Amino acid sequence: MEEIGHFINGTRVAGKSGRTADVFNPATGEVTAKVALATAAELQEAVVVAEKAQLGWAATNPQRRARVMMKFVSLLHRDMDTLASKLSSEHGKTHPDAKGDVIRGLEVAEFCIGAPHMMKGEFTEGAGPGIDMYSMRQPLGVVAGITPFNFPAMIPMWKFCVAIAAGNSFILKPSERNPSVPMMLAELMIEAGLPAGVLNVVNGDKESVDAILDDPIIQAVGFVGSTAIAEYVYTRGTASGKRVQCFGGAKNHMLIMPDADLDQAADALVGAGFGAAGERCMAISVAVPVGQETADRLIEKLVPRVEALKVGPYTAGDDVDFGPVITPQARERILGLVNSGVEQGAKLVVDGRDFTLQGYENGNFVGPCLFDNATKDMDIYKEEIFGPVLTVVRAETYEEALSLPMEHEYGNGTAIYTRDGDTARDFASRINIGMVGINVPIPVPLAYHTFGGWKRSGFGDLNQHGPDGFKFYTRTKTVTSRWPSGVKEGAEFSIPTME
Ligand code: NAD
Repeated sequence: MEEIGHFINGTRVAGKSGRTADVFNPATGEVTAKVALATAAELQEAVVVAEKAQLGWAATNPQRRARVMMKFVSLLHRDMDTLASKLSSEHGKTHPDAKGDVIRGLEVAEFCIGAPHMMKGEFTEGAGPGIDMYSMRQPLGVVAGITPFNFPAMIPMWKFCVAIAAGNSFILKPSERNPSVPMMLAELMIEAGLPAGVLNVVNGDKESVDAILDDPIIQAVGFVGSTAIAEYVYTRGTASGKRVQCFGGAKNHMLIMPDADLDQAADALVGAGFGAAGERCMAISVAVPVGQETADRLIEKLVPRVEALKVGPYTAGDDVDFGPVITPQARERILGLVNSGVEQGAKLVVDGRDFTLQGYENGNFVGPCLFDNATKDMDIYKEEIFGPVLTVVRAETYEEALSLPMEHEYGNGTAIYTRDGDTARDFASRINIGMVGINVPIPVPLAYHTFGGWKRSGFGDLNQHGPDGFKFYTRTKTVTSRWPSGVKEGAEFSIPTME
């Protein structure tokens, strides 16, 4: 049985805690590896290494640091299939979707090739008599990232690429459910020329997370995961004086206006609702058709599409639409919520609860479920299900439809399908949600923009990757300088102004 330890100082090391967690293949239920769960002392060992390595790395000029990213991108392309296969085997998503997971991270590495530009400061010549003023962005030192199971390649790269390109060293605490790909990424960074100790992977659970949050050397923590843990990490990390950004759960609504192309909207809903078995923080889980006629026509188009979805293991080939969910516990939770939807009066028009797959009886498969006539007070509407369940909530008017995502506690992503520019513009302007799609179901911003939700989907003020990522993992120093020839006055006792 493979035992996955940690990656510290440029190499794999065994865990010393004696505590491990099982890593499963979600399609078969088999245990494929054991992952070590670090103690606080092991985390501290990684921090000591990272602190030492950071000094040399920060002193390396930004162009040379960027070249590591350039090489890293080419190595990701070289190893794409190996990475994607490993990712699918521990996550369950299809092979093409696993490649997408790697590629959306790779795109952030590509963006970070431009780090020298992002790190450029500002300069004002002659800000006062003989005075020049300039500001520079400097790395924070040792920083950390704590990431979820659902994007084991992309989200670690969102964090460590930016932090490292900016001159920090990094401690990654990936999800204990699928630790292999993060370890492989760390090895590729070393092969790309990153000095040992700049990127370390410490596997673990709450104990290592708490050790990160309390460590006095770690300056910043970027977290992605469920809202309850996001809030906990934010509260504890900021209380210990760190810079913290935490991104949490979601309930993403898509409004379908009567003038929308309903075939396009139905295709978009099925892809965005059921892709990756609904285990995406940007999955559309609520469809809000406006007007009864729109709703009837939409349901008519959705039902055959949802019924035709192919569920299977990633090994079954590219025509599988989605795979199993991550754990048997996740499966039970999803089925429990679907049952609650039926009990609370929603109409389950496609019922995937009894789905089984011959030869994969121990896999965590859930068939696609489609609800119609759900209402705001139901658990299937209030909670993030994080499974292959799409819920239709009918609204009579645009204002009623708009009020649903506006009043929901989550504010990660949303979309509107319409041909009317006025409505789309009004929606984008008024909605209190961080990422908005107009005839685009999953509006995940590209690497050079920033990613982040509002309300209880995001804690902290800066987004991930893009310019905000560099702001988060750097701090500004502003220098006011005057050379002796510019010094004309004697001592000054009142505050200098530009009057
Ligand atoms: P999770 O909250 O269970 O785990 C996230 C991380 O926190 C993991 O590294 C885990 O080891 C750690 N953790 C878990 N329990 C902890 C505890 N009690 N104390 C300290 N640390 C703990 O989330 P998950 O199930 O891995 O991921 C799914 C969730 O992530 C969903 O809610 C999804 O919406 C969210 N997500 C959000 C975004 C976003 O950008 N907003 C992106 C992806 C996923």
